[in-house]
Amino acid sequence: MNWHQQLSADLLSAEDAHLRRRRNILEGAQGPQVRIGEERLTNFCSNDYLGFANHPKLIEASIEAAKKWGVGSGASHLVCGHQQLAEQFEQDFAKFVGAESALLFSTGYMANFAVVNSFFDRDGLILQDKSNHASLIDAGRLSRAKFSRYAHSDMSALQKQLSDAGDQSALIASDAVFSMEGDIAPLQEISDLAQSHNALAYFDDAHGFGVLGDQGRGSLNAVGLAPTENRILLSTLGKAMGSFGAVVTGDKVFIDTLIQKARPYIYTTALPPHVIAASAAGLGLMLDEDWRFAHLQRLIQIFRTEAKAIGLQLLNSTTPIQPILIGDNQKTLACSERLRELGFLVTAIRPPTVPEGSARLRITLSAAHSEDQIGQLLEALSALKKMELL
Ligand SMILES: *Cc1c(COP(=O)(O)O)cnc(C)c1O
Repeated sequence: MNWHQQLSADLLSAEDAHLRRRRNILEGAQGPQVRIGEERLTNFCSNDYLGFANHPKLIEASIEAAKKWGVGSGASHLVCGHQQLAEQFEQDFAKFVGAESALLFSTGYMANFAVVNSFFDRDGLILQDKSNHASLIDAGRLSRAKFSRYAHSDMSALQKQLSDAGDQSALIASDAVFSMEGDIAPLQEISDLAQSHNALAYFDDAHGFGVLGDQGRGSLNAVGLAPTENRILLSTLGKAMGSFGAVVTGDKVFIDTLIQKARPYIYTTALPPHVIAASAAGLGLMLDEDWRFAHLQRLIQIFRTEAKAIGLQLLNSTTPIQPILIGDNQKTLACSERLRELGFLVTAIRPPTVPEGSARLRITLSAAHSEDQIGQLLEALSALKKMELL
């Protein structure tokens, strides 16, 4: 077999194992209703938690910014791509989450590479929760520092790894809200352990920002914490914020160090100005429109109460991520396909995104959903349950 035949064979065996991935082609904007070909589906797998991705105010802000600032930043931030719009957004964002300083990245993926890899060379230690997002895990694997993982939210395991490390500099990285489970990390405990071991705690709040805390300030805010000297926060802008990009917040020394050292920051073109303008408009809306947070919380409550009543096994999640664990890949795909026939888009999440044997339907709720839509989804899930698919 040559390499090309090998690739074809690999694709076929992925197909056989029900692991082949395919993209759905959406014919229109992101939202609670999407069209794929001839199908009109109610969308329960987007991360557009606040319904901002197609919001007129963000679109308008984007158009206006494109007229004033253009559609390309033209260079990296350190060369000549750092426009006033970006500077202002960083300052406003830092203030919003209660941090001294903020740094805008093109993506959360890149921001995680930056934070995990900018601080120590071979003599450092990176500790991560086993359920962390792939971008954090990849960053740890590629780092020259020692990389080790602890069992999901297991604080005694983390404490032991920190104690074993002795005087070594350590960074503890954790999803604040776990992307495939929806549960929240022990933020206070991780912060305390970081403090007592003189380590740095880094929280990836891709799924807490815009959802938790006062007016969506995020997971740390929800437990009365803010970014500090040894507590760094990542908020991403492609999920609840409905646009694109990511912001790392911390103290000035930390952020300035990233500007000096972070290769995924230095060697890439700055975000397009109209994309930043959309995020800035989103931030404004978060401050103006309280109802979205309350409505989303209400939908989560309704979903959980009703799902339990029909006997579904939910995970321990109070966030808009409400997975239904199935286990078997083929069964999970079958459920996803059946839901689609009933008019719902819920993707089947399979390994390697989640551990072997833990395939699941990852249902996500949004403030853009109506109570009726949640009710209809529950009816469909109930039908699947009666057919013994769930
Ligand atoms: C989506 C996600 C990221 C990546 O953010 P992007 O801006 O989409 O690159 C990082 N961490 C977590 C937990 C995520 O869910």
